[in-house]
Amino acid sequence: MWLRRDLRLGDLPPLIAAQESGDEVLICFVVDPRLEKSSGPRRLSFLFDSLRDLDEQLSGRLLVVRGRPDEEIPRLARAVDAMSVHVSEDYSPFGRRRDGAVAEALGDTPFEAVGSPYLVSPGRVTKSDGEPYKVFTPYFKQWRSHGWRAPASSSVSATDLVDPSTIKRSGRIKIPAAPTELSLPAGERAAAQRWRAFVDDDLPGYDDDRDRPDLDVTSRMSAYLKFGNIHPRTLAADLGRSKGAQAYLRELAFRDFYADVLYHWPKSAWHNWNSQFDDIALDTDKSAYERFDTWKAGRTGFPLVDAGMRQLAESGFMHNRVRMLTASFLVKDLHLPWWWGAQWFLDQLIDGDMASNQHGWQWAAGTGTDAAPYFRVFNPDTQAGRFDPDGEYVKRWVPEYGSDDYPDPMVDHKAEREEALRRFGEI
Ligand code: FAD
Repeated sequence: MWLRRDLRLGDLPPLIAAQESGDEVLICFVVDPRLEKSSGPRRLSFLFDSLRDLDEQLSGRLLVVRGRPDEEIPRLARAVDAMSVHVSEDYSPFGRRRDGAVAEALGDTPFEAVGSPYLVSPGRVTKSDGEPYKVFTPYFKQWRSHGWRAPASSSVSATDLVDPSTIKRSGRIKIPAAPTELSLPAGERAAAQRWRAFVDDDLPGYDDDRDRPDLDVTSRMSAYLKFGNIHPRTLAADLGRSKGAQAYLRELAFRDFYADVLYHWPKSAWHNWNSQFDDIALDTDKSAYERFDTWKAGRTGFPLVDAGMRQLAESGFMHNRVRMLTASFLVKDLHLPWWWGAQWFLDQLIDGDMASNQHGWQWAAGTGTDAAPYFRVFNPDTQAGRFDPDGEYVKRWVPEYGSDDYPDPMVDHKAEREEALRRFGEI
């Protein structure tokens, strides 16, 4: 059993498949230097802490190695004389290439993928002519009627597992120390605990309060879902039919939708999904880089934007409403390329995810699937009045707001809004 984005033991279909196919299972994880390089210190910390949580649950029987999976997995398969190798399917562009290479390198040993990190796997929800959806709302309708399986009841005890210390030259490494401290505890057990608390305390009011960064009432499941510490069908099974529950399910559908978009248009990770916008004038001169740095540092002089940017830099998280606003500000008020901001988010976020992040950015930029028209420009002051009415969120992250130390607005929002619309008008 080769774990990747499914760092848990419960509700894990490939683990069941592995157990059914032989006597003993070896559970392993390969630290891939290519992903280590691109993950950012927070996501690496979350990964390593998740592995530690698993290893504890498995009484030290998790085998962690470092290297290229297309070399390490076949080597381990030979070392334990494996009958088959089991994984959850990975639909990301990188994951698909990597798994193709591993399957080939395994030769005659079957490589079996079952399940995925999504309620409905990418590619499954299509229009009646088989084409993928480009708009969320009809996708959502179809997604609901497609449905998903119930949680799988997987479990394993250490005695069913190959003891890695009995494998000669296993290449085992110690799980690396977390490079940075996290604002959120990682791992399957932490995920379950957090989910239960959310269901009891905040799910009932989720529909009304989810847009309020000051209240801090969203589930914080994003990083757990990213690393598979919990599966979304485990969440969906707990939801019920309340308004809060239905609003939550819709967000899980958004996550599936963006994975589906990336699956069908892998180029949209770093290029405008809608190429009509390729010719828009963007600022990339020296002063653009200075404005980018001001935005990153949370010194724009727009308090809600700055609060979000500082929450991101200090904690590796930002509330969704503020992600939308800070992204809109970078693109529409500062006229910078959305992919600059997307890269900064990926560097900082614990939950940084290619599908949700890049398409969240394209939504804000107006270059993505078409739910957000390009002419919608968030007004930072109106947003603050509506979603942080008492200024509590700003106070938390920008304590000097209101004093002389706080900068003046770096731009005139009204003028930059006009400028953004003028540039769109040109194309
Ligand atoms: P909750 O409100 O509790 O939502 C529950 C779950 O639904 C989330 O954990 C998430 O898995 C999913 N979800 C909610 N909103 C969205 C959405 N708009 N798109 C996709 N899935 C959603 N989410 C990431 O997981 N990783 C990212 O890198 C990421 N980058 C983003 C960048 C931008 C510019 C924007 C606008 C949104 C981004 N999102 C991203 C989506 C969303 O902001 C986060 O999922 C959410 O804030 C996580 O907090 P939560 O778990 O408390 O959310």
